[in-house]
Amino acid sequence: MSELITLTAAQLAGKIAAGDVSAVEAAQAHLDQISAVDGTLNAFLATRAEASLAAAREVDARRTAGETLGALAGVPLAVKDVLVTTDMPATAGSKILEGYQSPFDATAVAKARAAGLVSIGKTNMDEFAMGSATENSAYGPTANPWDTTRVPGGSGGGSAAAVAAFQAPLALGSDTGGSIRQPAALTGTVGAKPTYGGVSRYGAIALASSLDQIGPCGRDVLDTALLHDVIAGHDAHDATSLNFEWPSMAAAALGGADPASLKGLRVGVVKQLMLDGVQPGVKARFDETLAMITAAGAEIVEIDAPHFEYAVAAYYLILPAEASSNLAKYDSVRFGMRVTPDAGGTVQDVMSATRAAGFGPEVKRRIILGTYALSAGYYDAYYGSAQKVRTLIQRDFAAAFEQVDVIMSPTAPTTAWNLGTHNADPMQDYINDATTIPANLAGLPGISLPIGTAAEDGLPVGLQIIAPAYEDARMYRAGAAVEQLITARDGSPFWTQAPALAGSMARKAAN
Ligand code: GLN
Repeated sequence: MSELITLTAAQLAGKIAAGDVSAVEAAQAHLDQISAVDGTLNAFLATRAEASLAAAREVDARRTAGETLGALAGVPLAVKDVLVTTDMPATAGSKILEGYQSPFDATAVAKARAAGLVSIGKTNMDEFAMGSATENSAYGPTANPWDTTRVPGGSGGGSAAAVAAFQAPLALGSDTGGSIRQPAALTGTVGAKPTYGGVSRYGAIALASSLDQIGPCGRDVLDTALLHDVIAGHDAHDATSLNFEWPSMAAAALGGADPASLKGLRVGVVKQLMLDGVQPGVKARFDETLAMITAAGAEIVEIDAPHFEYAVAAYYLILPAEASSNLAKYDSVRFGMRVTPDAGGTVQDVMSATRAAGFGPEVKRRIILGTYALSAGYYDAYYGSAQKVRTLIQRDFAAAFEQVDVIMSPTAPTTAWNLGTHNADPMQDYINDATTIPANLAGLPGISLPIGTAAEDGLPVGLQIIAPAYEDARMYRAGAAVEQLITARDGSPFWTQAPALAGSMARKAAN
């Protein structure tokens, strides 16, 4: 294992900027790690070593020519397969898009490239980002680097696992109901969902457009903030993109990286996010973190958000409704797969055979649910009611943020579960997002960062920090402060405990 892969993105970028390491060496070291461990993990759906190395050579050439490059120039980047790029195919984890090659780059990827980041591969995900375990991928599940018999979370399990296993220092994800934050929690990494509209969704294969956000994944808060700065900003190609001067998230993370910055911070703990089913080891780490930030001068305020209880129910009407409409374009004509029935048939027969063969069971389930919820006679009862609940949840947040600066909760109620355990019951996957979904329904920024491992299974536990809209910098500042406390407690950054560094990602001893 090359020591280049064990650096943070900020450290690696520093070495590249100083001329100690080339972008080509950095790319090669990560490609080697992908070759070494991806047979076990299945975090990547596509790599193109030649394209990545060519991009790296170009960065090195630009530097040699005296160009001033961005803060992350030369750093490898893994890209969730929900984003289209010109260098590799995009499948969104679905058979229906197998082999699909986009003629353009998603804006987040284009911005990353312009800043000198080197795309290193496309990462595995639940089909069309529907799932909480990356087990709904048509290309097989991804394993959790902490214990390869466990799931990495989802839908962005590939990006999270790639970062956790040192296959890439940074990754891009998408978060519609928790798909960046929850996998970050389950893999001991950091992931942020920006304010809705803060990062362009242009070139992101849509799941539910009123909820989807593209965001950064990294091993620590600063790296994640640095990538956020690269991808944020207005984009005329995305009608929901905010025209706002974002402050530097990296500056916020650096400014917050001192527990003293927690002094006077009012932290809300929402009763309804402390779900009955929270695993004891998760609850223990969360309580310990609250005690640590209280000792550092933060003030804990208990918050009642009565409508959060209905967030999962509202989400599973709004999301399928929007998804059923977004997925109507996979019609065998415009994109991807086409299946012609043996007996031939009408356009409808071809469409039906294609969608039957191309979509997996979870996608079909949600299309059926969505079209039902939107159908005449049921629209008001289901979709209309869910939209009303959404408004009530937004009001609960607004009331909470009159009393507190940020809200904290466990990111997920449990640590990573065993592969295969939720297959028979999708509800189990659905309720794992009860803590992350409210922020999507309200369009708010949220981050997950590791706060230790659970005593009962030794697996990572994530802390979620939610801030008001436009206050993404606030969550990075608070996140960096918490991270410092965790590092001081453990004696080293959390990610240095990752199994990949111990030279083993095999199944952990059963206890
Ligand atoms: N697990 C949630 C779902 O299945 C979240 C998905 C996401 O954020 N893309 O819908």
